[in-house]
Amino acid sequence: MRIVVRYLAFAGLLLCMLNSYAGTSEQFLVVPRCLLSGNSFRYEELASLKWLRLIKITDLHPLQAAVVKKEARCRGFINVTRAWRDYSKRKQLDAAAFLSHYAPASRRGDLTRHYKIQYQNEVNSLVREIDTAQIRRELSKLTHFPDRHLHSEDGARAAQWIRQQAKTLIASSERKDTELLLIPTEGHSKQPSVMMKIGKALSEPGIVIGAHLDTIDSVDESQPGADDGASGVATVLETARLLLNSHLQFNKPIYLVWYAGSEAGKLGSQSVVQYFKRHHLPVDSVLQLDMTGYVGADGEPQIGLADDSTDAGLTTFVADLVTAYVKLPVGVRRCGYACSDHVIWYQNGNRVAYPLETMDETSNPYVHKRRDTMDKLSLTHVRDFVKLSTAFAVELAEPIITPLLSTSSLKR
Ligand SMILES: [Zn+2]
Repeated sequence: MRIVVRYLAFAGLLLCMLNSYAGTSEQFLVVPRCLLSGNSFRYEELASLKWLRLIKITDLHPLQAAVVKKEARCRGFINVTRAWRDYSKRKQLDAAAFLSHYAPASRRGDLTRHYKIQYQNEVNSLVREIDTAQIRRELSKLTHFPDRHLHSEDGARAAQWIRQQAKTLIASSERKDTELLLIPTEGHSKQPSVMMKIGKALSEPGIVIGAHLDTIDSVDESQPGADDGASGVATVLETARLLLNSHLQFNKPIYLVWYAGSEAGKLGSQSVVQYFKRHHLPVDSVLQLDMTGYVGADGEPQIGLADDSTDAGLTTFVADLVTAYVKLPVGVRRCGYACSDHVIWYQNGNRVAYPLETMDETSNPYVHKRRDTMDKLSLTHVRDFVKLSTAFAVELAEPIITPLLSTSSLKR
């Protein structure tokens, strides 16, 4: 019996090792060609499509270093290991056809959908309650982990800490229409994504607001990741707190998501999108909050809106929300390939908007470095993004306004 138990334990361990595509195992990635050029790391090219490549690689570190070096013009990559393995099992192998699913579509979205700002009383009541001290505490806690990357114990602890924070927020609001869950990151047992649902009408198309909780896996330096993306995590936590305490009921459910493994190729967001598909949860609109606290060297805050891999109609509406509720100038930005988790939703056919903390020329130079610390950030700018995401949630999820549940009944 003991031998059988030992054998099972060994088999389990082996399975675990095979399932995990950690830092130095065989992985399949979709990358823009510019990330590969001029670098000496080893990879095998399986397919190419214009400027996009499907490659096999065994060590992710050099590629992450290339992202750090080139990100301003090259941005990111998508880790498609699980999808590629499933695909190559099911069909006659056509790597180019597989790769074409990851090419950015040129669709501009539904420009005929009519958006209207109509819940100003509700939004303004909520954003008056933004708690800067709470945001500061959350940023401080998150940046005290030496890193929060997908494979590290600290990365696992960071995800559990966010879950605990969310649980505490729910408990103190005494709301009964919530659910909090961990969504495992496929192939990685350590760091799950965390998701809070507000509302019970899950057959209605939901409003998704998310940020990524992880940092890059750096061999050289610690990664406090204050701006990238603790600021986004804190923004979503504070948005959650405001919505929970509002006691507003909504026609549509709201999903607040803290994605795992974004820096390792948008792994958490892929698992989250799969979760929505598996559970047949329809989605109305998605807002991505990545970095929300840096205002640029000149200190003049503004908000940039990505005009690629986003929905044009929804992005115009987000610009209107910025003008109405945040009162900052708005500019146009480029995302580039796979710059953040919303691209996974976009590729899934969802309506997506991605507001950024600065314009291209004033973007944060400390990102992915040891110096991405809290002192470089403006908490006022983080508050700007809490205003924006709260407005996004309330305006699109449509609060149920009854004579009895007017703004005067909002919890103060
Ligand atoms: Zn990053």
